[in-house]
Amino acid sequence: MVRKISGGCLCGTVKFTVNDSFDNFYFCHCEQCRKVSGSSHASNLLTTIGNIEWLSGSNKIVRFDHKEGAFTKVFCSICGSGLPHESQSGECLVVPAGSLDAEPSLTPKAQIFCSEKAGWFTAGIEAPEHSGYESAG
Ligand SMILES: [Zn+2]
Ligand SMILES: [Zn+2]
Repeated sequence: MVRKISGGCLCGTVKFTVNDSFDNFYFCHCEQCRKVSGSSHASNLLTTIGNIEWLSGSNKIVRFDHKEGAFTKVFCSICGSGLPHESQSGECLVVPAGSLDAEPSLTPKAQIFCSEKAGWFTAGIEAPEHSGYESAG
């Protein structure tokens, strides 16, 4: 039996399950991923197209295909959370790791588009860690 992982958006409208059988896992530092995530990078798992079962909210899903390149963002139209989607090539299913409710077995294999990496990413991962919110003072 393949382990199943549930996932969904922040507001709880969209829910799905995927099999924990991912082929790749990378951080993408490209400019488009930074813009659309509002953060330093996207964290994407790749798997086969059929490896998902939508449980609810599929009528609230919006797809944005960027005119240039192969960049796509799929998100909940209510809360904006990133969601799994077919790549523009139709060759794989892209699953934002943060959309999952549990840790996948696979750990990140690579960081891509590092030539476009935000300078503050490296400083950020070296900054002091706190278990919860900490006033920076
Ligand atoms: Zn939502
Ligand atoms: Zn990217």
